[in-house]
Amino acid sequence: MAWDFETPPELQEKLNWMDSFVREEIEPLETLNLSYEKLCEIVAPLIQEVKARSLYAAHLPPRYGGSGSSQIQLALMHEILGRSFIAPLVFGNNAPDSGNAELLAIAIEQTGREDQKEKWLMPLLEGKLHSGFSMTEPDVAGSDPKLIKTTAVKDGDEWVINGHKWFTSNGSIADFLIVMARTEQNAPAHSSMSMILVPIDTPGVKVIRDVPTMEHPYESFGKFGNHAEIIYENVRVPYENLIGIRGEGFKLAQARLGPGRIHHAMRWIGQCNRAFEMMCERAVSRFAHGSTLSEKQMVQDWIAESATEIQAAKLLTLYAAYQMDKNGPFAARVEISMIKYWGARVLFNVIDRAIQVHGALGYTTDLPLEHMYRAARAARIYDGPDEIHKVTIAKQILKKYEPKEIPTEYIPARREKAFEKFRKYLEDATSNL
Ligand SMILES: Cc1cc2nc3c(=O)[nH]c(=O)nc-3n(C[C@H](O)[C@H](O)[C@H](O)COP(=O)(O)OP(=O)(O)OC[C@H]3O[C@@H](n4cnc5c(N)ncnc54)[C@H](O)[C@@H]3O)c2cc1C
Repeated sequence: MAWDFETPPELQEKLNWMDSFVREEIEPLETLNLSYEKLCEIVAPLIQEVKARSLYAAHLPPRYGGSGSSQIQLALMHEILGRSFIAPLVFGNNAPDSGNAELLAIAIEQTGREDQKEKWLMPLLEGKLHSGFSMTEPDVAGSDPKLIKTTAVKDGDEWVINGHKWFTSNGSIADFLIVMARTEQNAPAHSSMSMILVPIDTPGVKVIRDVPTMEHPYESFGKFGNHAEIIYENVRVPYENLIGIRGEGFKLAQARLGPGRIHHAMRWIGQCNRAFEMMCERAVSRFAHGSTLSEKQMVQDWIAESATEIQAAKLLTLYAAYQMDKNGPFAARVEISMIKYWGARVLFNVIDRAIQVHGALGYTTDLPLEHMYRAARAARIYDGPDEIHKVTIAKQILKKYEPKEIPTEYIPARREKAFEKFRKYLEDATSNL
């Protein structure tokens, strides 16, 4: 029976190495407030170490330079990488480059476009190019992508793209953008969009600004992790920049989003672990009202709640990864939606409690908690807001149910049936009632 919680020793060894590498080599970099160029320079030798251990871009098949790891293996790796926002960059799977590489790989498999592999995918994987994924628009609800207004019209052997996007993560430092645009006017909504690759220096691409957010509240431009607002004005790119099959942009996006959400959820566990470690350390260190905080039952409650929530979220995520490995993204969609909204909630809860245990110190920028807290809020919005995932879960579950005039569990009706079934035993007993 293949149902156990064991990590194979050779994987555990890799995870142990990753854990100390992230803590000792990567986490210190967080404190230096580096420019993107400086960060890339400093992490270059670290990337070589990761590559030497065949742990770089582990989400991709070996023919694209990855290790072809299963979703369960990747999930366990992402738990460690989630500790630091810099770690995914060093391990070749930072968003959105990793997701974009994944969807380019899927598209190339579909179309056999080796030229796209050489020109875009391999340099992206080698870290020579960086990318953005440009789908959400300020003027229409991102949670209903059928509403996308950006158009791409075929003109001779070119696409002409017009539209207004925002929240294109890393758009201001990207070399190319993958743009979701309406290419089919009269097709059903789910077959009306395509993805098109747009080099950033194409005339008509106007990166207006990086949008200040809760995570990065001050105006800045061209920083790793920023989210760009972009206007596409009569942008012309060759027709061959189409990614995958024309009109199947949504299908391609789904293929990318499933594994991406599992990796997000496990990275959140990594953030939770870090906040939890800080909370416990402070609880045993701080003395108030006759004892350390760790001896106060309310603080013990937070520690117990946090440990249990983290474990529950981790097991739920690993189960989603298992479903994905065994039965594919379609079969795993309920589990993926569960971890997307539940994981985001646990992330927020645990960081919040860790801040509370630290009191005023937790609120300061002397600890990473306040930044983690601000960044965590977005988890309930990107890659589908909580509500959309709850709708998916409920809809799928409800499909198994049919309307009944009388509830199946209605006791008078069940009693009647039970009486019929067991009549021969009951006639004597009931005749005495
Ligand atoms: C940090 C961050 C990074 C991002 N990175 C990218 C990126 O790289 N590329 C990109 O294209 N986009 C990106 N996004 C955008 C993200 O995908 C969208 O914000 C998301 O899809 C929601 O769209 P919206 O913001 O337009 O909200 P809306 O669609 O306007 O929804 C607003 C709210 O309405 C509610 N709602 C919506 N539908 C329902 C429903 N059916 N039932 C009940 N309530 C509902 C929800 O509470 C939702 O939060 C990013 C966002 C953030 C915050």
